[in-house]
Amino acid sequence: MGPSENNPAGIMPVQLNVNSRFRFRCHKGVSCFTQCCRGISIMLTPYDIVRMKNRMQISSSEFLAMYTKPELLEKTDLPVVTLKLLDDEKESCPFVRDDGCMIYQDRPTTCRYYPLGVASLSYKEQLEEGFYFFINEPHCRGFEEEREWTVGEWRKDQGVDIHDNINAEWTELIVRKRSIPKNIRLTEKTKNMFFTASYDIDRFKRFIFESTFLTLYDIDEKTVEAIREDELALLRFSFKWLKWLLFKEGEFKINESAAQARQKKIEE
Ligand code: SF4
Ligand code: SF4
Repeated sequence: MGPSENNPAGIMPVQLNVNSRFRFRCHKGVSCFTQCCRGISIMLTPYDIVRMKNRMQISSSEFLAMYTKPELLEKTDLPVVTLKLLDDEKESCPFVRDDGCMIYQDRPTTCRYYPLGVASLSYKEQLEEGFYFFINEPHCRGFEEEREWTVGEWRKDQGVDIHDNINAEWTELIVRKRSIPKNIRLTEKTKNMFFTASYDIDRFKRFIFESTFLTLYDIDEKTVEAIREDELALLRFSFKWLKWLLFKEGEFKINESAAQARQKKIEE
């Protein structure tokens, strides 16, 4: 389930915080069941891709090719991906079936938030001040149900807190990039690396272990072992790498002698 970013009813969105209360329940008995899984735009986060590609038992590159559409994120010049919808009459999500979402336990962050949207990408702002709103799609009957939640309870119930937590450093990068003047453009190489490190984790792993990366940078052994064995550690490492790449901040120290040797080789 996911948001349409417009506001069809023309209503000013109500800003919610984690303590705001609302009534909502979604279940197989609602007349609108799965309507929100069609004709939607769902931007995917790095952790969404990890969960979904593992669920489908395919590589991140295969997942990206089969199920996603590349886009440039507004105001950032950064490549992101959205779920590629089917070419059917209703533009259905490829994972929706008559009895619901076939990847429910591993559904993306946006689907977990629904019927809420997040007005700010910044994790810190979300938790401290609360920047949520109702998607307010007219077909959604879930608001007629009795069950009451606070926004905080809903996030926890839907497991969205785990997703947000893991993606936090990545979303901070995007928020920061947004505030940089438009005329500072990224090179194609940087954009490609942003895409690979954000979304194509299997390819990123090959970049780390099969290129000169580990000779060019001083990475401690414990970290190397962790990113070799643990996909989440690798994902978190990729966010740190992107922070260094985009803002030259972080712990990446170039191994000077390896860099000089490489430069010499290039010049020969
Ligand atoms: S991933 Fe699942 S919950 Fe999300 S839109 Fe597709 S079918 Fe619906
Ligand atoms: S109640 Fe809302 S969230 Fe649930 S299926 Fe209907 S439209 Fe989707």
